[in-house]
Amino acid sequence: MSSPKKASTSLPRKDQPVNPNLPGNSDDLSAVKCERLHENFLSNEFKSLEAPAKLSLYSYTATELAKAAMTCAKLSKNSLSLLQRKALKEHKDNYNKKYKLDDGVPIKVTIAAYFKLFDDLFFLGSLQVGRRVTIEVDQKKFSETTRKGSSSEVDGANQWLIEIHKNDKGLCDPVEILQEKLTTLMHEMIHVYLGLFGCRRCEENWQEQGLSGHGIAFLDTMFTLHKEAPRILEETLGFSSICLEALKEEIQGGGLKGGIPSLDELARWGLAEKVEELQTFLAET
Ligand SMILES: [Zn+2]
Ligand SMILES: [Zn+2]
Repeated sequence: MSSPKKASTSLPRKDQPVNPNLPGNSDDLSAVKCERLHENFLSNEFKSLEAPAKLSLYSYTATELAKAAMTCAKLSKNSLSLLQRKALKEHKDNYNKKYKLDDGVPIKVTIAAYFKLFDDLFFLGSLQVGRRVTIEVDQKKFSETTRKGSSSEVDGANQWLIEIHKNDKGLCDPVEILQEKLTTLMHEMIHVYLGLFGCRRCEENWQEQGLSGHGIAFLDTMFTLHKEAPRILEETLGFSSICLEALKEEIQGGGLKGGIPSLDELARWGLAEKVEELQTFLAET
């Protein structure tokens, strides 16, 4: 039941749950119990990180992984780890060459640079492009079925592919197009992080990760990183409404116990005023 399957995080259809960690028959949820001892992070680990952390594959609960990423993101400027400070220095030193959001820099260079930056700042340097993750940009067109991006596990190899699709609908401002790609990149990186290091046998884990991949652990991480990344980088990254779309996918996919998140959760994500919109969405789903 734990054999690796190709996992996709594209929009789920109601009749076809796509949760990567779902161990078998989705009607038989109560039978899934995980009895392994999960790994935990030590709280001082985040501040003293000098090099990328070596996390064990498929060993943590989604909540524990989310907590680690959020702790890293919330560190004050003077308590950042050496790994984070090095990443920030590289961002500052090479800003015009790699990070500037205009069309003067090749998109592959920008995306690779932000992947490494986000990895070192928020994911303990654990994702490692080239070793565990391959990124393809603009190879496929964004459409109703392919979404803005996707992440999928390459069969059985502990390798993930992130695809950021070409979106030539609607947006024409090159800066806005880049901002949207960055939002997609961040989104897919959270999927890969939870997918690579989350326990696959764990009911708790995949419930928290969500039936469409966008459960509470995912959403907590996403909203926190969207808030903290511009603070740490002192840069407006224009993270877009993909947040709300991810939440709606989870509602549509029947996750979040079949309802909408609690008021506490929505307030935590800055979405308190969206209650009615979400209730209407749920009713129409
Ligand atoms: Zn997603
Ligand atoms: Zn487990």
